[in-house]
Amino acid sequence: MARDDTVHRKAVLSVLDEARWHLTADEVYEEVKKTLPRISKGTVYRNLRKLRDRGDIAALELSGALTRFEGRREPHYHFVCESCGCVFDLDEPVDHELNARVEKKSGFRIAYHHLEFRGRCSGCENMQTRH
Ligand SMILES: [Zn+2]
Ligand SMILES: [Zn+2]
Repeated sequence: MARDDTVHRKAVLSVLDEARWHLTADEVYEEVKKTLPRISKGTVYRNLRKLRDRGDIAALELSGALTRFEGRREPHYHFVCESCGCVFDLDEPVDHELNARVEKKSGFRIAYHHLEFRGRCSGCENMQTRH
C-alpha cells in the first residue's frame, strides 16, 4: 500500500512536470491514467492535495475557474484568456517590492501576492482578426 502511494505520487508529479502547463484535477487524472490505467480519480485528487500541502506543486486558484495545478513552483504571474480559458505563465519578474510596500502601509504580514492578467491570448486574437 505504501509502495503504491509512492508510485501514484510520482506519476502525478511527473505528469505536472512534463505538462509545463496548468492542468485541472480531471486533466491530471486523464494523463495519469495513460501510465496507470487502474488508478482511481479519488487517488489522483488525494495525491494532488498531498503534493500541494507539501509544496511540491502549486495550486492555482483563479477567479471564476476550477483549481489548476502546476509543477512550476517559483512564483510567477499568470495570464488568463477570457476567450478560450487557457492559462499562461508570464515571463514577467515578480515584484517583491510590492510586498514590502503593502506591508509598510498596512502593517499586515504579507506572505505572497499573485497577479492575474486577463484578456485575449494571441491565438484567439488572430482568429478574431481573420474572420
Ligand atoms: Zn485564447
Ligand atoms: Zn504558472
